[in-house]
Amino acid sequence: MRQTRPSVATPAEKVDILGIAVDYIDRNGAVQFIARTIERFRQARAAGAPLPALAHVVTANSEIIMLAKEQPDVAQILSQAALVAADGIGLVWGSRLLGRPLPERIPGIELMEEMLARSAQEGWRPFFLGAAPGVAEEAKAVMERRFPGLQVAGVHHGYFQETEVPQVLQQIRQAQPDLLLVALGAPRQERWIAKYKEKLAAPVAVGVGGSLDIWSGRAQRAPQWMCDIGLEWLYRLLRQPSRARRMLALPRFAYAVWRERWTRRKG
Ligand code: UDP
Repeated sequence: MRQTRPSVATPAEKVDILGIAVDYIDRNGAVQFIARTIERFRQARAAGAPLPALAHVVTANSEIIMLAKEQPDVAQILSQAALVAADGIGLVWGSRLLGRPLPERIPGIELMEEMLARSAQEGWRPFFLGAAPGVAEEAKAVMERRFPGLQVAGVHHGYFQETEVPQVLQQIRQAQPDLLLVALGAPRQERWIAKYKEKLAAPVAVGVGGSLDIWSGRAQRAPQWMCDIGLEWLYRLLRQPSRARRMLALPRFAYAVWRERWTRRKG
């Protein structure tokens, strides 16, 4: 069950999880941060002023934290992101154990659904990039029906070659989106955003993993009760046993947190 907590509106404080800085922010705060960033960008665009740099929002889970420990480029991407939100019960659990509890888990898909609802009200236009051909179009149709007034600025599938990137970037720039959702899977989507952020001319980009598959109806999210007790990962493992190797990151993360706690206590 979600509890009401005071809103943390600004990503001012960081919580160190195994050397990676995660923002001390709750769901409301993350929504407000993204909304403010979009508004500031739109004002600059309307005034013909220089456009603010793209804000890269990462919704991080324990898998990406473990990856960042092994791959310096992923660590650098996380350290340069405008916001690193804790998507994943592991991070919230780890932060508690390490003595700096994060306010709550912010599931990336739910954060994006809130942003799409907000976009429908404010007239912001998101762009969907990623997933198999046809999926982004289906997700667009579903979400435009679900949030009346929502206008998706454009879509592109996620199976393009490196040589096609200029054309993809061009399509995104021409659409002038207010929010770019990149569904290429982690960490490909984070690398992609970091690599091209100067060429996107958008206020905010967020890696959204399998969200387009879920919105299109081609994949299902875990039942709510499993999400509530932090077992979404188990559902995904049962549905997609091929994820087993990737998921070894979870026990490795848990072990690393325990070890760090132990070392700190001794020190
Ligand atoms: N995907 C893509 N291009 C690729 C590889 C993957 O568009 O080259 C898409 C894939 O179709 C799926 C999403 O990326 O829609 C990855 O979803 P997943 O649930 O695996 O996300 P993760 O848990 O890796 O963030």
